Amino acid sequence: MATEKVVTVRSKYCDFLERDVELREWRVYPSADFLQTQGLTYQVRRCACTGAIDCNMKGITCRWAFTNPSNDRS
Ligand code: SF4
Repeated sequence: MATEKVVTVRSKYCDFLERDVELREWRVYPSADFLQTQGLTYQVRRCACTGAIDCNMKGITCRWAFTNPSNDRS
């Protein structure tokens, strides 16, 4: 059975919010038998920043806030 984990991939100070934020991935780890056939350790379901809601509310575009996939402010 697959399991899901939230992993912090980076911590940084973001100039747009003027505070520390974390960039997180929601990873799905497939069962061991599936791993052997696909050669994968995990798949990323989604990525988000702990400041994503604030950036959405302020109209700040960033792929980590789901507001612009081509604008990576990480
Ligand atoms: S979503 Fe992007 S712009 Fe907003 S705090 Fe995170 S890294 Fe900074």
